[in-house]
Amino acid sequence: MDNKLEKVASLCKRRGFIFQGSEIYGGLSGIYDYGPLGTELRHNIKQYFWDKFIGERDDVYGMSAAILMPERVWEASGHTELFTDPLVECKICHERVRADQPEAISDHEAKHKKDKVEWSEAKVFNLLVGSKLGASEATASQVYLRGEITQGVHVNFKNIVDSMHPKLPFGIGQIGKAFRNEITPRDFLFRQREFEQMELQYYIKPDEEKGKAAFEYWKNFALDWYYGLGFKKENLRLRQHAPDERAHYAKDAWDIEYNSSFAGWKEAWGIHHRGDWDLKRHSEYSKVDLSYYDEESKEKYIPWDIECSGGVDRAVLFVLLEAYSEDELGGETRTFLKLNPKIAPVKTAVFPLLKNKPELVAKAKDVYTLLKKEIPQTMFDDNGNIGKRYRRQDEIGTPSCVTVDFQTLEDNTVTVRDRDTGKQERHKIEELDEHFRKMLK
Ligand code: ATP
Repeated sequence: MDNKLEKVASLCKRRGFIFQGSEIYGGLSGIYDYGPLGTELRHNIKQYFWDKFIGERDDVYGMSAAILMPERVWEASGHTELFTDPLVECKICHERVRADQPEAISDHEAKHKKDKVEWSEAKVFNLLVGSKLGASEATASQVYLRGEITQGVHVNFKNIVDSMHPKLPFGIGQIGKAFRNEITPRDFLFRQREFEQMELQYYIKPDEEKGKAAFEYWKNFALDWYYGLGFKKENLRLRQHAPDERAHYAKDAWDIEYNSSFAGWKEAWGIHHRGDWDLKRHSEYSKVDLSYYDEESKEKYIPWDIECSGGVDRAVLFVLLEAYSEDELGGETRTFLKLNPKIAPVKTAVFPLLKNKPELVAKAKDVYTLLKKEIPQTMFDDNGNIGKRYRRQDEIGTPSCVTVDFQTLEDNTVTVRDRDTGKQERHKIEELDEHFRKMLK
C-alpha cells in the first residue's frame, strides 16, 4: 500500500473512522465497517449530496429502492450478460486476477518472486452478487443484491410519474448500497465488494441538442459539487471515456477523476448519457409501457437519461487523502485532517483548561450544552493536558476548539483555536454561534 494511503487507513482505525469488516474473525476482504467518526463524515457527505442534487432543487425527487431485486431486472439491464470483468488464472497457485489491471498482475507476480507466472487465457467473470429467496431449494427464486443503485430508480419510473405527475425534464436521486463481487478488492475503500453510491437519473425529452446541453450541465454540476468537498483545483479533472471503454448502456461517458497518491488519476464519479437504454429494456422485459406522455406536444416517448453516479466511500477516501496533512506546530510534528468544516465529523470540541478545577469544568459544560443545541456535532473533552486535546482534535479534523479558562469566569469570553493555523482568539460566549455559523457556511 502507498505510504499516504497506509497512514490514512491507520488513522481511520486508530481514531474510530473505519475498520476492516468482521475484523475479530480475521476480516472479510473488500468489506469495511464505519465507526463513530467515519459514520458522521460519511453522513455529512451524503447530506451534502442530498441537499445539492435533490433537496434544494424543484426538478428532482428523492427515493430509496430495495437492495434485493429479481433476476429479470438484471437480465433487462444487461448486467447478467455484460457486467463482467476479464480474469486470468495464475497457473502456479490458481488465484485469479483482473486481466485489465496491470497493478494486480504485477502484485501477483511479485508474490511468486523468481518463478515465472504463466497466465491462462482471459475469461469473463460476472460481478453480480446473488442470493436465493424462499424456504425450499425447489421453489426459491434467484435474486441479486443490486450491482448498481440505478435500476431501482428505472423500475420505479412509472410509479413516480403516476404519483407525482412531474413534467420533463426531471430527475430522481437516491443514495444506497451496491454490491459487486470484485476479484481484487484493493486500496482500502477504493475497490470494495459492498459500497454506497449516490446517484441522479435525470430524464429528458429525446433530442440530440437537449441531450448534449443536459449532459454538459450535469457534468459541470457534479464537478462543482466535488470541489465543494474541499479539493484543490489541480487534484480533480474530467476525462471522457474512449468508445471502447464505455459501459454497455452509455452513448457518452465522462469520469471525474482524483489525482490519488496511490495510483495517479482514479475514478471518483461517472457521468453517463444512458439514452433510452434502461426504460426501453424494462418496458420490453416487464411488458409494462414505460413511455411518458408529453401533454404539451401530445406525444408519447421513452425519455433519455443523463446519469451522475458517485461512490460515497470513494468520496470519503479521497476527502481523507486530500485532507491528510503533517506539519510542525509549536516545535512538534503533528498530523491533522484539513477537512472542510461542513463535512468534518466533529465541528467543535469544548475543553476546561484544567480538569481538576470544578468551576472551570462546570462552566465548560455550560458552554458545551449551549453549543450542542446549535451544533449537534460538538464534543466535550477534559482528558489529558490541553496540548494533547488539541492534537487529538487536529487528528480527526475538528476545525475549531473552544477552551474555558480563568478569564472566562470573569468576563464570559473563551479561547477559540483554529485547527489549520493553531491561532487563538478570544470570543464572547454569546458570539460563538455566529462564529460557527460563518465557519460552516
Ligand atoms: P471502476 O471502473 O473503478 O470499477 P465503474 O466504472 O465500474 O468503476 P460505475 O459502475 O460507474 O463504476 O459506478 C459509479 C461509481 O461507484 C464509481 O464512480 C465509484 O465511485 C463507485 N464504485 C464503483 N465500484 C466501486 C467499488 N468496487 N468500490 C467502491 N466504489 C465503487
